[in-house]
Amino acid sequence: MALYRTEAIVLRSQDYSEADKILTLYTKQFGKVRGIARGARRPRSRLLGSTQLFSHVNAGLFQGKGLDSLSQADIINSHRRIREDLGVLARATYVGELTDLFTEERDANEQVFDLLLVTLSALDGGNLKPALLRCFEIRLMQATGFAPRIDRCVECGLTVEGHARFSPSRGGVVCKRCRAEPGDLLISAPTLAALRGLSGMDAGRAMNAGISREMNQELKQAFSLYISRIIDRVPNSLSFLDLVSDERGQINIGDLRED
Ligand SMILES: [Zn+2]
Repeated sequence: MALYRTEAIVLRSQDYSEADKILTLYTKQFGKVRGIARGARRPRSRLLGSTQLFSHVNAGLFQGKGLDSLSQADIINSHRRIREDLGVLARATYVGELTDLFTEERDANEQVFDLLLVTLSALDGGNLKPALLRCFEIRLMQATGFAPRIDRCVECGLTVEGHARFSPSRGGVVCKRCRAEPGDLLISAPTLAALRGLSGMDAGRAMNAGISREMNQELKQAFSLYISRIIDRVPNSLSFLDLVSDERGQINIGDLRED
């Protein structure tokens, strides 16, 4: 079996048998990888600390026929504070779930790795601004080829100025001249401008940007519906997020089924 080393972030960690854990790692060089961490549940295991959720590690894995096997994991940053606060944990859980849902195993994407790392570091550092999650969503969709079209109308291709509609089913903004469809949402001019701004600027800066509560609500709802269409369901972690944080938004699954 070949051994390979890579930087990795623990996306999911499930107990498996009495002593082992099954991990989903997002690695820098190989994309998403599933692996078994043998003995990682034992109190004296050297993998116990380094296989905690959202840890950033230098990992050594043996390639297996099914699951790879984690032989070594040295902590670069355990992102401990994420696991100490429910509101932060809920946000990170959403970030981890979306990363898992938008990526395939062994499809390397360093942009996704970097985005995940910068987002988790910001959460660990106490950034609870609404822009953080919106920025993560738009950038993850950009990095994986699912970004909605926000510069021009998805129907006629003309530049969209002022307020517009966002169409989850058509994958972007629709201008005032083109027909509306069930499930379209209104998106105000300032919110559309904020979205374009967040998409264009450096991730670290965008995550610290101030966006109003109204803008956040509009973007959150638009993205929730759009993302749920792509993955064909509502992310599991959204209800946890709504429960423990003030990231409240409405999502109407009926809107997804109208076409
Ligand atoms: Zn149009």
